[in-house]
Amino acid sequence: MIAPVLPTYSRAPLSFVEGKGVWLTEAGGRRYLDLGAGIAVNALGHAHPKLVAALTEQAGRLWHVSNLYEIPGQEALARRLVDATFADTVFFTNSGTEACELAIKMVRRHWHDRGQPERTTIIAFEGAFHGRSIGAISAAGAEKLTKGFAPLLPGFRHVPFGDIDAVRAAVDETTAAIIVEPIQGEGGIRPAPEGFLAALDEIRQRTGALLIFDEVQCGMGRSGRLFAHEWDGVFPDVMMVAKGIGGGFPLGAVLATEDAASAMTAGSHGSTYGGNPLAMAVGAAVMDEICQPGFLDDVSRRAGRLAQGLAALVAGHPAVFEGVRGRGLMLGLRCRVPNTDVVAAGYSAEVLTVPGGDNVVRILPPLVITEDEIDEALARLDRAASALGTPG
Ligand SMILES: *Cc1c(COP(=O)(O)O)cnc(C)c1O
Repeated sequence: MIAPVLPTYSRAPLSFVEGKGVWLTEAGGRRYLDLGAGIAVNALGHAHPKLVAALTEQAGRLWHVSNLYEIPGQEALARRLVDATFADTVFFTNSGTEACELAIKMVRRHWHDRGQPERTTIIAFEGAFHGRSIGAISAAGAEKLTKGFAPLLPGFRHVPFGDIDAVRAAVDETTAAIIVEPIQGEGGIRPAPEGFLAALDEIRQRTGALLIFDEVQCGMGRSGRLFAHEWDGVFPDVMMVAKGIGGGFPLGAVLATEDAASAMTAGSHGSTYGGNPLAMAVGAAVMDEICQPGFLDDVSRRAGRLAQGLAALVAGHPAVFEGVRGRGLMLGLRCRVPNTDVVAAGYSAEVLTVPGGDNVVRILPPLVITEDEIDEALARLDRAASALGTPG
């Protein structure tokens, strides 16, 4: 008999009743150090006092009015995102998947509006993840996402991640855009190779193909910059954001240049909940914290300590781990044993991590994790690894 909750998730036998900072507590009082942060969502940890205050204050005043009316919180948050990034304009969604849908619609409509309606193809990368709608799984292309869901959305061409020659060969007169995660998340914390985004920029300049960056997982400070592409100095035409931007409240966004977005006129897109007052109150509070002077430098400094500790962990358990990769507080441990075994051993050691593609264990702690908490996390990961393999 099918469960009352559609059984699409394979859940760990853990159930939390309370969170504070980087800690999650079960009903029986057992405390776990959370290095998963709801898959890079709880950027400021659990129950951050400023976020709780922003949400409860707004909840007592006004929840929802619809986009039939003006929502001043949208204008305020959009202005801040525009001021902090390449973008000229912002559309608010409730999730990363919805941001993906709009990104696809926007680039197609852009070319339609420019009198080149044949430019509908989007080049995407193997190992990518863009969400779970038909559009998003068609964009990612992997069989584990698409199996049984045909017919898929046509118009995607898939090439190996990081293979610039394959991109050059795939671009033609039908190319509307290239969609890429500057650091692949679900694919196993795979940063784009050095110079790859710059090479995509060169293709954009030569062919006009728009660049869509999916920063749903790597954005909002996780890499040590507000957005990961800032490390490369290459800026997109369209960017998808979600996860960390709401700190646990459902919120996503599409950021775009005026040129890319100018065909999206009144009536061309919409969302019932997107940008509602509750989400805007929390989003503003998240921006307040992440954009504080020194916050991101501090993320990078603590990330250095974590990365160093993880490198030592790998060296100490060569039978369990192969290496560590990633940027900022978005790190991946490539495993020699099944990554799910490492994650399960973590549960026993009361530390939470997230499996990813390419047999990687993802380490995505709240950005506010302290040095002491990093040391404690490393000690617990060491315990987990020791339970799996012989040290040395
Ligand atoms: C999680 C994720 C998405 C999908 O976001 P949802 O909020 O789950 O719809 C899209 N792209 C990337 C890179 C993600 O990590």
